[in-house]
Parts: sequence; structure tokens; C-alpha cells
Amino acid sequence: MSATSSETYINLDVAVIGGGIAGLWLLDRLRQSGYCTALLSKGPLGTEQTVASQGMIHGGVKYTLTGTLSGASEAIADMPAHWRACLAGDGDVDLRNTKILSDHFYMWSSSTLGKLTSFFASRALRGRVEKVAKSDRPALFDNPAFSGSLYKLVDMVVDVPSLVANLADNNAGHIFQLNAEHQWRRKSKVAELQLGNGTVIRARQFIFTAGKGNQALLQALEADKPEQQIRPLRQLVVRHNNPYAFYGHCLGAEKTPRLTISSHPSADGRMVWYLGGSLAEEGYQLSDAELIAKGRAELTQLFPWLDFASAEFSTLYIERAEPKQPGLVRPDQAYAEPVPGLDNVTVAWPTKLTLTPNMAHQVLEQQALAQQPSPAAADAQALTALRAQLSPPHVAPLPWETT
Ligand SMILES: Cc1cc2nc3c(=O)[nH]c(=O)nc-3n(C[C@H](O)[C@H](O)[C@H](O)COP(=O)(O)OP(=O)(O)OC[C@H]3O[C@@H](n4cnc5c(N)ncnc54)[C@H](O)[C@@H]3O)c2cc1C
Repeated sequence: MSATSSETYINLDVAVIGGGIAGLWLLDRLRQSGYCTALLSKGPLGTEQTVASQGMIHGGVKYTLTGTLSGASEAIADMPAHWRACLAGDGDVDLRNTKILSDHFYMWSSSTLGKLTSFFASRALRGRVEKVAKSDRPALFDNPAFSGSLYKLVDMVVDVPSLVANLADNNAGHIFQLNAEHQWRRKSKVAELQLGNGTVIRARQFIFTAGKGNQALLQALEADKPEQQIRPLRQLVVRHNNPYAFYGHCLGAEKTPRLTISSHPSADGRMVWYLGGSLAEEGYQLSDAELIAKGRAELTQLFPWLDFASAEFSTLYIERAEPKQPGLVRPDQAYAEPVPGLDNVTVAWPTKLTLTPNMAHQVLEQQALAQQPSPAAADAQALTALRAQLSPPHVAPLPWETT
């Protein structure tokens, strides 16, 4: 810590701004590398996209529905193995306290899959997709009314609140909720964060991992690059009394899953089926009532043997924030790049929960972080000063527990 007559400075090697999966994972990696670092978040940990996600850690098979491997499917192929190592305590981040909701994911179609059948059986996808024999079907599909094809993927599903809590616990004492008075200022090519009481945070690098908030942060520093894109979704939340916890994509005529189902525990003891896929991508244009009617019709058609008469349906509007792509397409890879015109700011979007390890790796490889970490004593001093002024944020609840 240092001071002038009117200001006190807290000096960090790296300040991570934003407490979703991106910021939390990065903080963990930076601390392990010895940097004097802290995470500062405006909202609760995981709020916005992270706790609204379906928690799938996937290897990109859902991007192969064109019948070919794509950049997106290949960039992500190693990720389930990377996360599995972390979950077992053998990876670059210790996730042993994260709950696994399912260690596999299914993909099914009610009709014939045509040329995809031979593609899924091809060498290109060996080890990533496996046809499920009738005798091995999960309970949900163990019904004579089901006559389609079913595949099992190496993908898995994590319980996101426990993932966020796990990372917050690993890094307790280094995570802070920003106060309402905080303000950004730019001095020529350098960004600084004022806490509003004469305290100023200075960092060799600020890494913006604020999801949708990255754009406003850049604007506050009069920077207009990199640009952000927003892809809106309206997910469907279905609370019901059917006993099946299921995780899978339903394939339709399109090149993206028609419906993606993940299952989550709910505080009232009922099962929540959380529905995404094309239903949600197209759903943002529909009213709540229209989407609920469409979702109900889909479930009745796909699972005629289940009863959804007493199920409660609600919708969740949420925006995905990503680096801008031509034609608003989904980015293939994680993003982390310095901000042009500012010497100490980098912007990062993981673009998927699954790709967060890659995003953190990219940040750690940046030239901007090439300097040696400060001595441990500087870390202790900065952290003591931050703790005197700011409190830790709490973990955001699952979105359907608050509506
Ligand atoms: C419905 C949905 C389902 C998804 N499902 C999956 C999936 O199954 N698998 C997968 O791989 N990906 C999935 N994703 C994508 C994944 O959730 C996101 O890529 C990821 O969570 C983004 O994390 P983030 O930390 O960048 O942003 P966010 O989770 O949005 O976090 C942003 C954080 O920044 C903070 N913040 C905002 N503004 C400021 C500011 N000015 N100052 C300080 N802090 C600020 C917020 O409070 C918040 O803590 C899904 C996304 C959605 C929307």
C-alpha cells in the first residue's frame, strides 16, 4: 500500500474484475502462480450466466450434427478429460468439492438419424459417442413407446452452485464485493479503480471477466474494442413430479439440438427440468405463454409416457455475452486479449463454461503477465487493505429458486 496527500493506493499484480466462472477460475490459477491478486465483483458470485448455465462440460459432439467435425467441435474435445482431472483433484484447479450431477450425457432422436448414424460410428468420433443398447437404456427411455436411437456421450454435468462455492472456498480472503461508490478512471494509457473514499486500486493488469458487464467496463475507460455480442435465450424451467433425472440433447431436423434437458434439485423437493437448445435460442422471440405452450407440446410429443399435467412451467430470459463474431455466430474458442490503447487491461470471455480452463490458460500466457510476481509480503499488505474496506460476496442462488 502507498499514499499521496489525498489518496491511498492498493497495489496488485493482477486485479480480476467479475465473479463468474471466468474470474473465479482465473483467480485460482493466478494465485497458484504466485501473483499478488484479488477478485472484485459487482454482483454475487456466479450471478448472470454462470448459475443460469446447464452445467454441461462437453466435448463438442453437439457441434457435429452437420455430419462433419468443425473448429468448434475440435477446440473443445479435450475439455471433459481436463475437468475430470480437476474434479478428481489432479488438475490445474482443485474441484474435489464440486458435485457431479451426471457423469455422462445422452443424445437421442425419436426418428431415424440418416447419415449421422454412420458418422457417430466413425473413427473421427471414436471414444466420444457410443450407441446405447436397448438393455442399457436409462430408466426414462426404458419404455415400449420409445423407438428412436439413443447415444451416450463422454460429457458430464456439474452442479454449478457447488462449483462456484468450491472456487470461492479455494480462494477465500481474496474475493471482494465492489462498493456502490467505486469508479473507473483512465490516466492516459493506464486504468485505475477508485473505491470512493480516497482509496485507489492500481494493478499491473486488470483482467475484465465480467461477462456482459465487460462492455460497460470498457466504456467507462473510453475504450471501444474489443466489441461484444449478446445472444439472447429464453430457457424453460419445468418443475414436475416425474422421478427421472435426465441429461441429454434431443436431435431434430436442425443442425443444433432441438432440445437440451438438464435436471436439477429444487428446494421444494420437486425435480426441475431445465430446457435449452433451439427451443431457448428461438424462444427469446416468443412471449412467456407462447414458449410455455411450445415447450409443453414438445415434452408431450417426445415423452408420451410421462405426465406433465401438474407440472409448473416458467421461463428464464438470459443473455450470453461473447466477443463479437461476423454474423453473430457462436464463437469456437475462449477469448482473452489486451485492450488496444490501454497498457494494463485485458478482456476475457470464456464463451462456454466448458472452455474456462482454456481462457485462464490464455491469460496466463499473455505477454502482459510476463513480469515476475511481487514478493509475498506485498500480497499480504494489499489483501489486508482490501479486507478493511470490502466484504466477500455471496454465491448466487439458482435462478428458479428466486422466481
Ligand atoms: C442459459 C445458459 C446455459 C448455458 N449452458 C452452458 C453449458 O451447459 N455448458 C457450457 O459450457 N456453457 C454454458 N453456458 C455458457 C456459460 O454459462 C458462460 O460462458 C459462462 O458462465 C460465462 O461466465 P463469465 O464468468 O464470463 O460471466 P458471468 O457468469 O456472466 O459472470 C459475470 C460476473 O461479473 C460480474 N460483473 C458484471 N459487471 C461487473 C462490473 N462492472 N464490475 C465488476 N463485476 C461485474 C457479475 O456480477 C458476475 O459475477 C450457458 C449459458 C447460458 C446463458
